[in-house]
Amino acid sequence: MIITCKKGAPQEEINKIIHNFESQGLEVTLSRGANYNVFGIVGDTTVVDERKIRANKWIEDVTRIGAPYKKVNRLFHPEDSVIDVAGIKIGGMEKIVVIGGPCSVEGREEICNIAEAVKDAGACMLRGGAYKPRTSPYAFQGLGTEGIEYMVEAKKNTGLPIVSELMSADKIDEFVEHVDLIQVGARNMQNFDLLKALGKINKPILLKRGLSNTVEEWLMSAEYIMAGGNENIILCERGIRTFERCTRNTLDLSVVPIIKRKSHLPIIIDPSHATGDWELVESMSLAAIAAGADGLIIEVHNNPECAWSDGAQSLKPDKFKTMIEKGRVIAEVVGRGM
Ligand code: PEP
Ligand code: MN
Repeated sequence: MIITCKKGAPQEEINKIIHNFESQGLEVTLSRGANYNVFGIVGDTTVVDERKIRANKWIEDVTRIGAPYKKVNRLFHPEDSVIDVAGIKIGGMEKIVVIGGPCSVEGREEICNIAEAVKDAGACMLRGGAYKPRTSPYAFQGLGTEGIEYMVEAKKNTGLPIVSELMSADKIDEFVEHVDLIQVGARNMQNFDLLKALGKINKPILLKRGLSNTVEEWLMSAEYIMAGGNENIILCERGIRTFERCTRNTLDLSVVPIIKRKSHLPIIIDPSHATGDWELVESMSLAAIAAGADGLIIEVHNNPECAWSDGAQSLKPDKFKTMIEKGRVIAEVVGRGM
């Protein structure tokens, strides 16, 4: 971290600043110039609050050199993390995982039929929302506990581990008992109390990127979970909000190599929410595989026209199967299985 003091900063102020950093166990080097005094701060600067430093009227500028996150940082964990979700390994260079299923669980028969269909198509995990974060309070809010029960039944029938979204900490026990991979949706990426609660459990977490969040904010949210002790995190890019209205969101595929550079955590892509358009899902899935993603999470429905949520972005099982077949070809080119 580099800190520049304003011209004319009194010596006692400079001493105070030095003392403040040294008392936090940091090493301070002072370079005196004709116009500015510049401090170099080395050590674990993740604990330093930049905005607090800026509050001092003698500070001109603060530049962070290292990242504000530690546990998710590849610098301190050079190997890829491989997360085990009920026996399915996500991350590392071996296999790209495909998760398929409806946006919402609508009933026992619906989820059980889709589970069979996604399994036949080649998916290794089933998704389905029981608690739904809907923009409108009048829209279908999910079946709740009943939905989780149907997911468990679909898992029993097919053997597919299940992914579902948790919206509030009061349902954690239900999810720990029944769900294999707990999804934190885009809208809750910065629900810090929820993240802290998830830090205290051992279940793998699928942490989606927030609607308008930077990579650094996203990684800081992962850091919250890891700082609590839960290191089983998979990141999911699901599109971000931009000025473009042709798609529901803008799929930021460049985050795949960026995340790989900055973090050891696996990253998967959700082309369904990213595009909002089933016709774009296949091409964006193939592009994600080529970009190095560790997996895909895709909405699949037997009858999208009648889906209770997100029908416009849901693939029918046959299209999902075709996508997986094409995806396997790309996966081979990038040296992975699928
Ligand atoms: C979902 O997975 O159905 C969902 C609501 O996702 P997101 O949080 O990415 O919008
Ligand atoms: Mn959805």
